Amino acid sequence: MKENLNPFAIAQSQLDEAAEVLQLDPDMHAFLREPMREFHFTIPVRMDDGTTQTFQGFRVQYNDARGPGKGGIRFHPDETIDTVRALAAWMTWKTAVSDIPLGGAKGGVICDPRQMSSDEVERLSRGYMRNIARHIGITKDIPAPDVNTNPRIMSWMLDEYETIIGRHEPGTITGKPLEMGGSAGRTAATAMGGLFTMREAAKLNGLNLEEATCAIQGFGNVGSFTHKLGQKQFGMKVIAISDEYGGIHNDNGLDYDDVLAHQRQTGKLMGYLGAENISNQELLEMKVDILIPAAIENQLTSKNADQIKAKIVAELANGPTTPEADNILNDKGVYIIPDFLCNAGGVIVSYFEMVQNGYQYYWEESMVHERLDRKIKTAFQAVNHMSQSKKVDTRVAAYLMAVNRVAEAVRLRGWV
Ligand code: NAD
Repeated sequence: MKENLNPFAIAQSQLDEAAEVLQLDPDMHAFLREPMREFHFTIPVRMDDGTTQTFQGFRVQYNDARGPGKGGIRFHPDETIDTVRALAAWMTWKTAVSDIPLGGAKGGVICDPRQMSSDEVERLSRGYMRNIARHIGITKDIPAPDVNTNPRIMSWMLDEYETIIGRHEPGTITGKPLEMGGSAGRTAATAMGGLFTMREAAKLNGLNLEEATCAIQGFGNVGSFTHKLGQKQFGMKVIAISDEYGGIHNDNGLDYDDVLAHQRQTGKLMGYLGAENISNQELLEMKVDILIPAAIENQLTSKNADQIKAKIVAELANGPTTPEADNILNDKGVYIIPDFLCNAGGVIVSYFEMVQNGYQYYWEESMVHERLDRKIKTAFQAVNHMSQSKKVDTRVAAYLMAVNRVAEAVRLRGWV
């Protein structure tokens, strides 16, 4: 049978597996399988050449039983409503497993920002906000950046929102620049949180992080900060890294500053002197202690899972592993740090950003990191404990914790 790569079908099948272990009430299960609310809209954008192009936008509020929805906005040519649904579902489980008082949501626009000027991206971002402004806010749903969106875009969106509502409300969008009420440590938070979980997983698996080798797929926000902080603060040896064009490899390690300078100069990683060029497939199958998918969905599948040689897979990307690959990796004894635990650092610090916006008083970066460490370590240990006590793999364990928490809030509200 052909492997189903539809992200929402995958998210639903992961929930189904957890529901079975939990013996979840069938009515509750049916409710949690679907998003509570979806917005589909068109965004007409005046292009620089005077023509108007119409883009398709989405916002999915998957579940807000535990608090207002929370989730990024992605700009991508391959965006689909099912990708947004899956990402919104994973946000629901992510906020629940991290035990922060928020629900799950996600947004997206089908577009290719690399083919657009900065002015066109600004008009698109403001147009997106005009469509969703009435449906979001600090007590309803709080957007943030995701793939191909960044703090600059969050500033435009917040400005449009505040213009519409006629007052300041910085906590409505997180991942903002510091000057707009952003939190210290937010840009690096997803990578930092992931590295804290890798530190815990290394301890469990008898690995010394300071001597560990790793390969990172993706050199965007998450991948590049994981390279930087992994090397500089955790002493890890990054021996391979890639972007969408391909990757580079050197067993002696790849120096972050040098690689960044090359990437800034040429726009790519390949061609970096002092390393061999490799494909993304070769990177995934490399012999390393820790493999870190930090790019896009469906990278570890039934086709390559057998070839994975890493001891730990730290899923910083959302949905990088298909259920079939999951089974193969678990059978091989690979320790997986599941995505919605591994990459929860971003949403945890987004939550800290909202809290700081609420009382207009800002924390030092060291305090942000310390509180992030405490929060994500607690979640990691609880998932690991659940995995051992229930004799289930780490992904199912993370689902058991998250689904229990969301189902309890749904029950207390009397929805089901
Ligand atoms: P980004 O746009 O900054 O970077 C994405 C990177 O992936 C780029 O280097 C790009 O070249 C690379 N890439 C794209 N397609 C690829 C392919 N087919 N093969 C290999 N590399 C490819 O995005 P990001 O914010 O770093 O997000 C990366 C992943 O992390 C996504 O799955 C995202 O949902 C997840 N995530 C991000 C955050 C966050 O705070 N930014 C939080 C949680 C999860």
